[in-house]
Amino acid sequence: MDTLPTEVQPRPIRFRDEPAMHHGGAYVAPGRRATAGAWLYPCPEQCRDDGPLGIWIGPADEPGRQVLICPSCGLDCT
Ligand SMILES: [Zn+2]
Repeated sequence: MDTLPTEVQPRPIRFRDEPAMHHGGAYVAPGRRATAGAWLYPCPEQCRDDGPLGIWIGPADEPGRQVLICPSCGLDCT
């Protein structure tokens, strides 16, 4: 049974235009972008979530199209 929150934002997954410079001061792979959504923090640079847990979003029936994101700012951490 799928218990992951796969419906936290509308489909398809939308990304912000600008790439993240860092994630609350932590390294981010070049070109990573945050997903669009009403996140706790407005951008990855201001994120204070340093926890290890991400959430998978995207179509549950197409795992290859799912994205692992930070639950506080929506940054793509796949
Ligand atoms: Zn974050």
